[in-house]
Amino acid sequence: MRFDMTRKPFVIANWKMNANTQANQAWMDEARVQLTGSALACDVAVCAPFVYLPQLCEGFSHSAALVGAQNCASYSHGAYTGEVSAAMLADIGCDMVIVGHSERRTLFGETDAIVAEKVRLAYENGVMPILCVGETLQEREEGRTIEVVAAQLKAVLDTVGVAPLLRGALAYEPVWAIGTGKSATAEDAQSVHAALRQVLAQYDEEGAQAVRILYGGSVKPANAAELFAQQDIDGALVGGASLKAQEFLAICHCADAAV
Ligand code: PEP
Repeated sequence: MRFDMTRKPFVIANWKMNANTQANQAWMDEARVQLTGSALACDVAVCAPFVYLPQLCEGFSHSAALVGAQNCASYSHGAYTGEVSAAMLADIGCDMVIVGHSERRTLFGETDAIVAEKVRLAYENGVMPILCVGETLQEREEGRTIEVVAAQLKAVLDTVGVAPLLRGALAYEPVWAIGTGKSATAEDAQSVHAALRQVLAQYDEEGAQAVRILYGGSVKPANAAELFAQQDIDGALVGGASLKAQEFLAICHCADAAV
C-alpha cells in the first residue's frame, strides 16, 4: 500500500473551456458505471464551465463523482457583473472549485491576495477549494521553483490557514507542464510536493500529513502510475486527458492501483 489512508487519492478532471451539452452527456454516460458506488477507491471530480454545472450535478447525482467549478468570485455578493460567487456554487449543489489555476493567474491577473480570498470564500460556503500553485519555466530555470510555490502557498495559509486545504486539496501544477505534453519527472514532482508539505507543516504539523497534494501538468494514462507511486503525490488534476472519459478513467485506475 503506497497511499497513506488519511490521504485518499483524488483525481480531478478540468475540462477548461471545452464542453457542450451533448458531449457532456456522452462523457457522463460513458463514465457513469465506473463512477458509481464503490467502483473506484479514489475520489473523483469533474470541473466544468459554470453553465454546465447543473447538468453535471444532475447527471452525477447517483454516482460518487463530485462536481466542481473552475473559478469563483473573490467577493461574497453584490455589484460584480458577470461574476459567480462561492455561495451560488454551494446553492446549486456544486462540491468544489479550482482556485488560482495558472491560466487564471496569468491570463486574468489573479494575484495571491485574490486567490486567498477565493479560497476563504469557498471554504466558508462549504465548497472544497482546490488551490493551484506552480512555477513558470523561467522561474524553474533560475532555480526558484520551491521559493515561488512556497510563496504562493504561504500567501493563502497566512490568510486562511490549513483547514480549507484539508477540506479540499492543494495542486502543484508547473506552468510549463500544463497543456504542453511535457510533464515533470515523478522525482522532480515528488521533491516539490515534499517541500510543499513542509510548508504546510510550518502552519499545522499534523494537518500537513493529511492534506492531499495533487500533481497537474500533462498527466496521462502513460505517466500516471509513476507519478502516483511517489510518497507525496496524492492524485492528479487532469486537463487535456480528461476530455475523453476512457483516458480519464484509466488515470483513475492508476490511482486506485496505488492504494
Ligand atoms: C490543468 O489544466 O490543470 C492541466 C493540468 O492541464 P493538462 O493536463 O492539459 O496539462
